[in-house]
Amino acid sequence: MTSSKLTPPPLQNDCFALPPGVKWTPVADAHAMLQRRLDVVVGTEVLSVRDAFGRVLAAPVIAKRSNPPAANSAVDGYAVAGATFEAGTHVVALVDGRSAAGQPYSGTVPKGQALRILTGAAMPVGTDTVILQEDVTLGEQEIAFRGPLKLSANARKAGEDFATGDEVLPSGRRITATDMALLTASGAQDVTVRKPLRVAVISTGDELAEAGESATPDQIYDANRPMLLSMAKRLGHDVVDLGRIADNREDVRAALDDAAQRADVILTSGGASAGDEDHMSALLQETGAMALWRLAIKPGRPLALGMWNETPVFGLPGNPVAAGVCALIFATPAMGVLAGEGWQEPEGVLLPASFEKRKKAGRREYLRARVREGQVEAFASEGSGRISGLSWADGLVELPDEAMDIKPGTLVRYFSYRDFGL
Ligand code: AMP
Ligand code: MG
Repeated sequence: MTSSKLTPPPLQNDCFALPPGVKWTPVADAHAMLQRRLDVVVGTEVLSVRDAFGRVLAAPVIAKRSNPPAANSAVDGYAVAGATFEAGTHVVALVDGRSAAGQPYSGTVPKGQALRILTGAAMPVGTDTVILQEDVTLGEQEIAFRGPLKLSANARKAGEDFATGDEVLPSGRRITATDMALLTASGAQDVTVRKPLRVAVISTGDELAEAGESATPDQIYDANRPMLLSMAKRLGHDVVDLGRIADNREDVRAALDDAAQRADVILTSGGASAGDEDHMSALLQETGAMALWRLAIKPGRPLALGMWNETPVFGLPGNPVAAGVCALIFATPAMGVLAGEGWQEPEGVLLPASFEKRKKAGRREYLRARVREGQVEAFASEGSGRISGLSWADGLVELPDEAMDIKPGTLVRYFSYRDFGL
């Protein structure tokens, strides 16, 4: 077992530096770089299996017992030694007693006789086959049925699902509701899991007003922070809400200092490009550990990636659509690595488009999309301030870096938000 005191080393400060001279970074290269440079940053702890739902396994789970632990009946019926009965009619004496789930029969069933057995009950000594009760005529102290019997019919073998010592779940797995059944059946008591990844979320911009409060006409509500906090929560991380920060270099600096102390990764939005008020990119550049990635992606202005006091920072664009898409395409898989789940990219499905679009070569495009009657619909406007489209959509369509002429019926790759883990 991994010691809970063991913590991985801090990330190197130049982890996002791109080779000099690189201009537009293809999405695939950015992904490869993130995968190469990032590693798990959270330690481990031991939890009772009861509390493990939603946590990430830090070690494989090895079955402590087989499933089923002992041979048992798959149906309600009568247990016999199957080989004894050939073709033809048989009338067989019933042994006194029965075997029920949790209440096994303690005796031995003599050859040529039968014992009443219920679903889930241990196969009694002397038997290997169960005759369905529907295939039997029941008398006072005997049953009648037709042979031949299929040997071992309606009986589950010990360990036929998994055996003691089998690896039932791998390290890195985020435990699902169905995994809880498997973990419990395998006899797990304590499991070694990752401590939750702490994700700090900061919004920047003088124009931002707080959700639920009054706003002047020249203000907009901070829409990114609630979205990013909710995404991080839904992905299974712990969140640290650091609020809105004005477009002021020192305030942004203080917010990053605070975030780096309290979190394992920082998501910011706004101020990520190279304008006068783009303090996020300026500050990250100051540390010398910043890559202002001109990503070949639409939507998405430059994504500022950097390290702040050894904590990775994703400086997402301010436009909510671009912030949402960049969070899904870059921050989500990266947070998976930091959290110990490993890099996971959704596979998506190829489905016929119901829309038309001519796409130029050069950058990958993501459209807000949803599936209706087996076809992919795209949101009418591609404007990256159109927040309504984010919510209208159930996912994204990914159009490749190359040019593409999409007509109704053209196959396009669709990822539902769920595919990203949301
Ligand atoms: P910026 O990247 O800071 O230049 O912002 C680009 C656009 O996104 C501007 O129109 C901002 O007002 C808008 N924006 C920035 N942050 C947010 C936010 N948290 N919620 C909604 N819109 C935002
Ligand atoms: Mg701004």
